[in-house]
Amino acid sequence: MSWDISKIDKWTWKDHPPGAVIKDPGNSRQFKTGGWRTLRPIRDEEICNQCLICFMFCPDSAIKAEGEKITTFDLDFCKGCGICAEECPQNAIEMVDEAEVQDTVE
Ligand code: SF4
Ligand code: SF4
Repeated sequence: MSWDISKIDKWTWKDHPPGAVIKDPGNSRQFKTGGWRTLRPIRDEEICNQCLICFMFCPDSAIKAEGEKITTFDLDFCKGCGICAEECPQNAIEMVDEAEVQDTVE
């Protein structure tokens, strides 16, 4: 979507298009934000001690767990913010260049 902003100096508040409007509650699943990612988290299973801290800190609930163990990253929603890697006390998560891994992982 794009807007004609050539006369934006003359806009009143009524002319501004609505932004960041959530019309339907719980609709975030419809918007796959993984496409924004430039860095991808890679977890080293040998180093990870399954403390689940990354799981709790991920702002996008993009770290999947089963039976109290991390299983994978949900790349449809992981934005590559790196919070999981920053918070991991074991340094078990490395953020790698998305373009470099796209052809080699998955
Ligand atoms: S990089 Fe950010 S969004 Fe992706 S799994 Fe880690 S904390 Fe979640
Ligand atoms: S924070 Fe690190 S050690 Fe803990 S579960 Fe996540 S990757 Fe594993």
